[in-house]
Amino acid sequence: MGVFLLALATMTLAGCMQAPSEQITPPPTAEASPQQAVLSEVLNPQATTGPAASCAPGQFADSRGICLPCLDYEGCFTKSSDMYYFLNTGVELIHRFGASEFPTVDTSAKWLFVRTGATGDEGCTDGAGGRARYNDKSYEYCPSDRRVYVGEQSMWRYYTDHGDAAPIVGLAHEWGHHLQNLAGIVVRADHQREDILAQEIQADCVAGAWGGWANRQGIMDAEDDLKDVGSLMRVIADFGPTRQHGDLDERIEAFSTGYAQGVTACNKYVPHAPLVQTAASPSGSTTP
Ligand SMILES: [Zn+2]
Repeated sequence: MGVFLLALATMTLAGCMQAPSEQITPPPTAEASPQQAVLSEVLNPQATTGPAASCAPGQFADSRGICLPCLDYEGCFTKSSDMYYFLNTGVELIHRFGASEFPTVDTSAKWLFVRTGATGDEGCTDGAGGRARYNDKSYEYCPSDRRVYVGEQSMWRYYTDHGDAAPIVGLAHEWGHHLQNLAGIVVRADHQREDILAQEIQADCVAGAWGGWANRQGIMDAEDDLKDVGSLMRVIADFGPTRQHGDLDERIEAFSTGYAQGVTACNKYVPHAPLVQTAASPSGSTTP
């Protein structure tokens, strides 16, 4: 595909999008009108990948045939609504990775792009037992409906604050929760904090495994950015006494493990349920 200069430094955002699970989906402010409540399901890449689009002069077709004004996603997008296209690209890359790692299992998740101002019910409960709600700041996986809710505003913030790899790595982290769901290990509401922490660290590892795959595919430019990994990790690490995400060392270790050793190495974090089994876990609460 085109030049996709992923900055590994930004990849260490590694999903985990800092909201604690109890507040995964911030309380909705006002119900959006039906016209605003656009929830765009990402198209199935297999069903839509076709001949490269013929783009206007000065534009370039990405791997989906979507015309973009730049060859490098870094700095390419100029408004938050453009994240819809970027989400499609990220999903395609993640599902390609899934197909390569688990050729006999359908590891595709459903991805829903929550446009600015949209809100609504998820299939999951929140950490307090109420109905989880999605909004434009969501970045979370709901095991009940097997959907990743991707809020336009969060995706835009990760893109603008950290770079093009950040939102995609966040998606890969959430997809890691989908793998956990397929393995039957995501029932967060019933779990102890240590279990949740292990799952989050494993999701960081899955994100790293995706990053390693992307690097081997030649769709990222990691070398220049490796030096920045540590500093960015310090921004996103979780040090609180009730933390549910890894601290600095844990996140670096998990991401690096996946990056260097692949997704099967991530099994060590939740050893009783290897990724990926096909057993379904139809209940659970939303996972950030
Ligand atoms: Zn997570």
